[in-house]
Amino acid sequence: MSSKPKLPHWKQGLISGYQEFRAGAYLSQKTQYTKLGVDGQNPETMVITCADSRVNPTAIFNAHPGELFALRNVANIVPPYDDNQGGVHGASATIEFAVTVLEVDAIVVMGHESCGGITAYLDGLGDSQETKFIGPWIKLLDKAYARLEPDEKHPDRCQQELEYAGVLQSMDNLMTYPFVQKAVKAQNLSLLGSYFSIIRGVLMFADEKGSFHEVQVR
Ligand SMILES: [Zn+2]
Repeated sequence: MSSKPKLPHWKQGLISGYQEFRAGAYLSQKTQYTKLGVDGQNPETMVITCADSRVNPTAIFNAHPGELFALRNVANIVPPYDDNQGGVHGASATIEFAVTVLEVDAIVVMGHESCGGITAYLDGLGDSQETKFIGPWIKLLDKAYARLEPDEKHPDRCQQELEYAGVLQSMDNLMTYPFVQKAVKAQNLSLLGSYFSIIRGVLMFADEKGSFHEVQVR
């Protein structure tokens, strides 16, 4: 007698998660899903955040389907505008789609505590030949690192400072995209820096001077 092969743990987790979704969140938002599927999306906000499994913008902002257009990558990096014709730029294409096609009202860059991408940068991965893609990617944090005050530039101590600076640098890099600049100048687009503390569950917004402040909870 043959017994059914046991599913790997990860797959069982995906299936039971999906079943819970169907019985819970999906069921209560079924009409919304159908309407969005037929009519298309019209999100007001784009979120650019880390791919980190502990940082979920949909949960943090209690967002419903159709509300957040998200770009996620290692360390929530916005690469500077690159005019290289014919290059394939996933992050740039997603930003262009959000701004020129979806015409979002705002782009929120969200950094976070204990970011592995930031740690890897501070550990020197950006300058090593160990990796094919991740090294050159986090090397883009050089400019963020250059924003730190001289007394902050200590690899053992500046993790959080660099997480903040990375958000601010990504916002500056957004402004190197001509279509972002145009939309911001026309006041059709706002940019906002933010930061999530995983340990405390606290969200912060950056002010115009680049300081981060906790968002009030009710
Ligand atoms: Zn991260």
